[in-house]
Amino acid sequence: MLPLPTYEDVLAAARRLDGHAHRTPVMTSRTMNSETDAQIFFKCENLQRMGAFKFRGAFNALSKFDARQRQAGVVTYSSGNHAQAIALSGALLDIPATIIMPNDAPAAKMAATRGYGGKVVTYDRYTEDREKIGNDLAQQYGLTLIPPYDHPDVISGQGTAAKELIDEVGPLDALFVPLGGGGLLSGSILSARALSPACKIYGVEPEAGNDGQQSLRSGAIVHIETPKTIADGAQTQHLGAHTFEIIRREVDDIVTASDAQLVDTMRFFAERMKLIVEPTGCLGAAAARAMAGELRGKRVGVILSGGNVDIDRLCALFGA
Ligand SMILES: *Cc1c(COP(=O)(O)O)cnc(C)c1O
Repeated sequence: MLPLPTYEDVLAAARRLDGHAHRTPVMTSRTMNSETDAQIFFKCENLQRMGAFKFRGAFNALSKFDARQRQAGVVTYSSGNHAQAIALSGALLDIPATIIMPNDAPAAKMAATRGYGGKVVTYDRYTEDREKIGNDLAQQYGLTLIPPYDHPDVISGQGTAAKELIDEVGPLDALFVPLGGGGLLSGSILSARALSPACKIYGVEPEAGNDGQQSLRSGAIVHIETPKTIADGAQTQHLGAHTFEIIRREVDDIVTASDAQLVDTMRFFAERMKLIVEPTGCLGAAAARAMAGELRGKRVGVILSGGNVDIDRLCALFGA
């Protein structure tokens, strides 16, 4: 395991991202505040470059490459937002990017990754191991592997979103963060513990894939089968060694949201706030709504982690 990142690393990441990542807006809704009887601040990472907070971790990690690493390039495995984040960061920093994707990944996602200049290598998800392919390519061509969440530079980059939120609105009583492999949650923990020490921090998983909750309860990383949920950015099978270590020590709790709650919350954002938030991006907001009874009168931060959802899929989810 590499040394765990600290808030100092988040500060360094914020300096690297300055002028490259968007400082995304913090939005509020009177309707949501009166529904919950709390003051809720939404950090809109659905409006981040490439549509999700993952640009932060990817750009931070690639910015730290030395001359040899830059020339040889980066490799990663992802079929989702991390793929696009690495491809875009590689293009901006002039670092060749190779992305390993399952051969049945949606064509639109492969096209988006190629559109940002990434080289896509496909594999069979039923017979091949993507981590092994990544390590083999790294060995063979001298590429640097940047995984989607379990890396100190990815974690510290992701932590800059919560830092910006608290810098802008001041200390919080509670913070809700979507949870997949834990890069966003562990980075948010570093910032929230430094800037708002009394803040309660909640990770939010899909109900169908609560491996993080099980891991927290049992004290060891629990592995599960790929969960069936519309929250495709949180279909991870287990937390990472680095992310779990930070989460285990510092998180207040890990809670879950059902697919029905996610759709209802997506509809709220679209209708009332004119925001497109992808299902995974709604996890934090759905949990905050469900826990309103405990949040009465409190100042609550919610990270809207991403907005990448096809319009056709959005319509299907809304039953149109
Ligand atoms: C990746 C992702 C998550 C989960 O982030 P982790 O760092 O893996 O926990 C949440 N929301 C969106 C939109 C994502 O792309």
